[in-house]
Amino acid sequence: MKYLKINEIFFSIQGESLNTGIPTVFVRLTGCPLRCNYCDTKYAFKEGVKMSLSNIIKKIKSYDSRFVTITGGEPLAQHNVYSLIDLLLDKSFTVSIETSNGLSIEKINKHVDIVLDIKTPGSGECEKNIIDNYQFLKKTDQVKFVICDINDYLWTKDYIYTYNLHQICNVLLSPSYDEMPIRFLADNILKDKLPARLQTQLHKIIWDNERGK
Ligand code: SF4
Repeated sequence: MKYLKINEIFFSIQGESLNTGIPTVFVRLTGCPLRCNYCDTKYAFKEGVKMSLSNIIKKIKSYDSRFVTITGGEPLAQHNVYSLIDLLLDKSFTVSIETSNGLSIEKINKHVDIVLDIKTPGSGECEKNIIDNYQFLKKTDQVKFVICDINDYLWTKDYIYTYNLHQICNVLLSPSYDEMPIRFLADNILKDKLPARLQTQLHKIIWDNERGK
């Protein structure tokens, strides 16, 4: 029997990504090798319980939704996540995964929507970005940059063009919740005609930082 250490499984509104607004089951895996300055899920670094894949599926099914987002922590840090993905796809769930760009995405099933969180200098973990990962992105995937300050914005602008990310997949820019006014990002995206979508964290607008939302 295969197991994963699970921090929490909950039903909420997708607050980020191209699927913003869709009621979704979130499976948050325990553990992350990174330590971003703005991390809002530090409780997922260690806290969690071991669950069999069959019990995880049972819990997901109880919410009666076909949308599942696997997140963390860093979900790719536990190898059995690939088996969970296969089981979910076999059962016709629409699966997305939020991952930090600190681990390889090569083995993620091509039917999963990847949201790759490319780390900016403001995160403090920028040097962990795996540039090799960009070759595995599909047109329907998303790269996300959390922008902490003007330096992050300028760095991101340059980074998008350096790696032609806008030609590969969707590019999302999101303001760091407590650090960056969304208007600053909106004005600059328009001024620079940046090939990117502005994102907000809808779940935080609705529930602030309430856990499990
Ligand atoms: S990658 Fe995500 S979970 Fe890990 S430290 Fe950074 S923000 Fe937190």
